[in-house]
Amino acid sequence: MVVHHVVVNPVGAGGNDVAHFFAQAGKVGGQQRGSNAVGGHDRIVAFCAPVVEALLEVMLEFMGEFDLIETYFKRPPRHAVLGVGDDCALLAVKSGQQLAISSDMLVEGRHFLSTVNPEYLGHKALAVNLSDLAACGAQPKAFLLSLAFPEVVPQWLSAFSKGMWALADAHHCDLIGGDTTRGPLNICITVLGEVPQAMALLRSGAKAGDDIYVSGHLGDARLVLEVFRGALSVPKAVFEAARMRMDKPTPRVELGLALRGLAHSAIDVSDGLLGDLQHILKASGVGAEIDTQQVLSTMACGQSSGLKPDDLLRLTLAGGDDYELVFTAPENQRQAIASASASSATQVTRIGKITAHPHLSLLDNNGRSLPHSFESFDHFKTP
Ligand code: ADP
Ligand code: MG
Repeated sequence: MVVHHVVVNPVGAGGNDVAHFFAQAGKVGGQQRGSNAVGGHDRIVAFCAPVVEALLEVMLEFMGEFDLIETYFKRPPRHAVLGVGDDCALLAVKSGQQLAISSDMLVEGRHFLSTVNPEYLGHKALAVNLSDLAACGAQPKAFLLSLAFPEVVPQWLSAFSKGMWALADAHHCDLIGGDTTRGPLNICITVLGEVPQAMALLRSGAKAGDDIYVSGHLGDARLVLEVFRGALSVPKAVFEAARMRMDKPTPRVELGLALRGLAHSAIDVSDGLLGDLQHILKASGVGAEIDTQQVLSTMACGQSSGLKPDDLLRLTLAGGDDYELVFTAPENQRQAIASASASSATQVTRIGKITAHPHLSLLDNNGRSLPHSFESFDHFKTP
């Protein structure tokens, strides 16, 4: 998954961010912390009334690995035969179904900053994984959470798990196990889903003549990143709306399910539309023509952002961290795609055509070819 999109609370973030909690823990435990702990001490002192302080001290002292798993990560499973607590979880796989499995890791400093709101982080860590199930047309069933963090900070764990549980509940997905260890903050989730035999949507099924579609909105997360970097500036309302989309992406699970048997191929957009579309083209041995005006139209805040068309185009075509679905389907399924969009309450935009010639062309609104050199994100190529 993409790396350059950090999930951050800008300066002045609310009181429940990671830095704040680590600072609190540092104060309560009487230990010295790194630079995250400084700044906001006044608020910390005000917050840590003596009773709270004493309570936290007791909890920090006694909360071991197993207590915290019990407290934050154990709930009776809905589907699993056996959930958290033994050496393995047990899942019954229905006959005629296949297990769809995917794993995504979020590393502090690489995918998010220490100042991220932990509730959003809990949501996002699961959302990016559910997005992979959505891309395969799989129904989420269960997930495993492997978590490393430097200190036990109850408020942080509580907020993180709250964000995670809310999304898990929305998709009836059981947390069935994982691993917990001390270390630099690092979150790895593995999701398991179900899909009927031979019904999974794959990257390799696109055919010449297919329509190409994208769900929802592109470019918001990248817009936020560029504003943080000082490269772009937009009105505050635009920024706040885009930031919610970056912090709390919506995995398109219902759309993925509705596309079973309809779409020829699909992928989720994590590294940028063009880069991820190229994976479909390569796996399917085909090319594509993309209508850039249609792609631009997917950017929710594009019109009100005051940004130049070139910037908007770059954000939507090569942004990343979008967690939308790109998929292809035969032309004679247009009506069915519209119904899938309606039944899943997910906007879908037709943005181009698959071609037999294995080349990706970008077309302007007059059908003329545009030069392009958009790179998608690559963890080892991109600094
Ligand atoms: P083991 O030593 O066999 O690896 P652990 O002692 O690490 O098992 O974990 C005990 C139980 O708690 C196991 O069922 C494991 O799957 C579960 N578990 C550990 N960490 C987490 C976590 N972060 N979220 C959910 N379950 C977890
Ligand atoms: Mg273990």
